[in-house]
Amino acid sequence: MSVEETGVWTETYPKEPCPFCGKTVAIRISEILIVDKKYWKVRIFDDSGCPLSAMFERGLRMGSAGEVCAVLKKDWHEIVETVSNMPVCPECGRSPVCRYSTNLDRWIILCEKGHLRTDEAFVLSAMRNWNKKVGQYVCDNQNQRLGQCLTSLWNQGYANDEELPEFMRQSWREKHANWERK
Ligand SMILES: [Zn+2]
Ligand SMILES: [Zn+2]
Repeated sequence: MSVEETGVWTETYPKEPCPFCGKTVAIRISEILIVDKKYWKVRIFDDSGCPLSAMFERGLRMGSAGEVCAVLKKDWHEIVETVSNMPVCPECGRSPVCRYSTNLDRWIILCEKGHLRTDEAFVLSAMRNWNKKVGQYVCDNQNQRLGQCLTSLWNQGYANDEELPEFMRQSWREKHANWERK
């Protein structure tokens, strides 16, 4: 099979900077010919060398340079949105850490205290999975834990929310504020 680089390439600069280091990002597509058909190879990078290419789905793209760039910019926008809006760990309220493991060739998102963890081949799937796990964790723990916490706080006779996991503090504060008003 003949694969040939045609030497044609173009670069586009999405407006959202790298969510890890804040530097400007460039997306470069280079044309290749495989048995007379044209494809685009994709590379995305910034000055810090963040592993951004690994965030995109792998594989070659087809279409005009303009179309391919538009799709890649849209993908990048979605990636940055998702990275910026990831919910904090529901147990301790820390922001999750997102990193790429070259050994595993997977993206890992975790709470550094070890409360929650997820890994996936693609960064977006890992992030969506993190969101799902956070929701699931809250569901699984809410009823049982809220009962326990409220009983023990009630028995201690003081309103200290230190012992509550982050996702319950809000509802505890609201309840307590209501009690104080009475
Ligand atoms: Zn970066
Ligand atoms: Zn945590």
